[in-house]
Amino acid sequence: MQIDGGCRCGHITCRAEVDPPDIIICHCADCQKLPGTAFRTVVFAAEKDFAFLEALPKIYVKAAESGRQREQTSYPECGSPIYSAPVGVEPRTLDIRFGTANQREDLPPQSQFWSRSAQFWLGDIPSMKIVSRHV
Ligand SMILES: [Zn+2]
Repeated sequence: MQIDGGCRCGHITCRAEVDPPDIIICHCADCQKLPGTAFRTVVFAAEKDFAFLEALPKIYVKAAESGRQREQTSYPECGSPIYSAPVGVEPRTLDIRFGTANQREDLPPQSQFWSRSAQFWLGDIPSMKIVSRHV
C-alpha cells in the first residue's frame, strides 16, 4: 500500500510504501511529550521505501526513554512531526507520524507499545460525552 502526505502547511510532502501496513500506538513518555498528546500513532516503513517529494524537515536528535538516540524530524514552521528513526542503525525503519498520512482511515493500529505508561482513562473514551463542536 502506498501512503502519502506531509506536514500541516503542505511545505513538506512525502510518500512511503507500507506492505503490509504496520501501525502501532506508543504510550511512552516521549510519545506523549513530543506531540503534546496522550499517545502517538505510528506507521512503520523501511527507509528505502520512503521519500521526501518536496523540502526536507528539521532533524532533532534526542535520547528516547529506552536510552537509544532517536532522530525526530519535523517541519518547524507549522510544527508538524514527520517521522522518527534510530541513529547509527542500518537499515533503518522510520516511525512515520500517522497524522501526516492522507490515508489515515485505512491505517488502523494493530498493537500498543509501552502500555505501562498509558493514561488510565484511555479505555473510557467510548463512554465519554460526545461534543460535536470543536472546543
Ligand atoms: Zn514512544
